[in-house]
Amino acid sequence: MSFDVNKLVRDNIRELTPYSSARDEFHGEAKVFLDANENSMGSPLIKWYNRYPDPYQTDLKKAISKVKGIAAEHIFLGNGSDECIDLLYRCFCEPKKDNVIICPPTYGMYEVSGNINDAEVRRAPLLQSFQLHIGQIEELVDEHTKMIWICSPNNPTGNSMKREDIETLLNNFNGLVVIDEAYINFSKHKSFIQELPDYPNLVVLQTFSKAWGLAALRLGIAFASTEIVRLLNKIKPPYNINQATQELATQALEEIGQVNDMIKELVGMRDALVRVFESMPLVEKVYPSDANFLLVKIKNARKIYEYLLTKGIVVRDRSNVQLCDNCLRITIGTEDEITLLVKAIREYSKK
Ligand SMILES: *Cc1c(COP(=O)(O)O)cnc(C)c1O
Repeated sequence: MSFDVNKLVRDNIRELTPYSSARDEFHGEAKVFLDANENSMGSPLIKWYNRYPDPYQTDLKKAISKVKGIAAEHIFLGNGSDECIDLLYRCFCEPKKDNVIICPPTYGMYEVSGNINDAEVRRAPLLQSFQLHIGQIEELVDEHTKMIWICSPNNPTGNSMKREDIETLLNNFNGLVVIDEAYINFSKHKSFIQELPDYPNLVVLQTFSKAWGLAALRLGIAFASTEIVRLLNKIKPPYNINQATQELATQALEEIGQVNDMIKELVGMRDALVRVFESMPLVEKVYPSDANFLLVKIKNARKIYEYLLTKGIVVRDRSNVQLCDNCLRITIGTEDEITLLVKAIREYSKK
């Protein structure tokens, strides 16, 4: 295989002289910092919030590195995975010329971000089994195909993609294979992050928004080769991860025990809820889930969605999505929330 990241990257990005911030030009200890036009008097909040944050998030990356067992130079941090997705397009896809492949039904941002960046988005729908249609993906690839987006476990179907299929793509495709593992902590399957040394074309996305319970902080991770991390660093907004997020996420990483307890509880409730749904006459199918949600095929999904709204319960109506006819996507909530949901659906069926 002849993967060459220097051929893949856009010319203007390869040649780019990045913005050089005050914190780029000088880092280290000093007595007096008069180089960034900050307010040296202080801040109305926490004392040091008058200063710009570390543009490369050194301490936070060290903490992530320790938890994940991946060296810090393989870690890029974005303002949510959504920023990582956008930056990958900006780095590799020449507008109006390059294309990417997505496998719907899947996470919507791959397509929206592609449209914003004026990259052609080619669709290789999942099979009825919600697995990858490798033959069709391979047919869609041409010399302008820069990325294949794989979501595993997939949103909204909940299943994991077959490891051999992903490996086939990694071994045969000369562009980037981006694996979005937003839900990996709820899955019994292994992450691909340990495979980074074997695949220079692999990018793995993870996020603090789901299992870590920190959606509000906006923190996403891209694990990739040092070359790709260097390119992303070159084009990111200089201070894309704010100080509060850097501090709070570093703190959260020390609470991994608590997070693992929540994951265990959520997975337990998910598996119990599968059995509850399967016992309901209205439910036609509960799709197996490796995530913190269930995709449920149910009679009159739209009607039930609207009924639940009248009870103050919001689920996601996916019934207009390809292959998801009459499907609701239901996040695993607290025990009390699930009890309310189940009660409401039972009431609906008695009407
Ligand atoms: C929720 C989700 C994300 C998370 O995005 P953030 O910007 O990190 O909050 C990413 N990918 C998928 C598939 C998701 O469902």
